Amino acid sequence: MTRNIGLNVPIPLSQCDDPNCPFHGTLPVRGQTLDGVVISSRMDKTVVVERSYEKKVFKYERYEKRRSRIHAHNPPCINAKEGDTVKIAECRPLSKSKSFVVVALT
Ligand SMILES: [Zn+2]
Repeated sequence: MTRNIGLNVPIPLSQCDDPNCPFHGTLPVRGQTLDGVVISSRMDKTVVVERSYEKKVFKYERYEKRRSRIHAHNPPCINAKEGDTVKIAECRPLSKSKSFVVVALT
């Protein structure tokens, strides 16, 4: 059975039995949703997502490029690979460094 996670994202085509999957397990998502690019998928069910954004520097009235890396849970039914653009949603802390979960490939 696939749960409705309350976000406007497509339902994964495959099923999985991961308890930490927002669609097929019991993991609630709430808070922020962000977009980024997967730069590493070598860990088990975890990906590193990099996000680029611009921050205004008021002294020079220009923007500087910044980036941040976020660890996110990668459920088997989504199975994001390196180079994929993904949407991640905030969830409860799943481990020391993971409190986001991949909800869609975009
Ligand atoms: Zn799943």
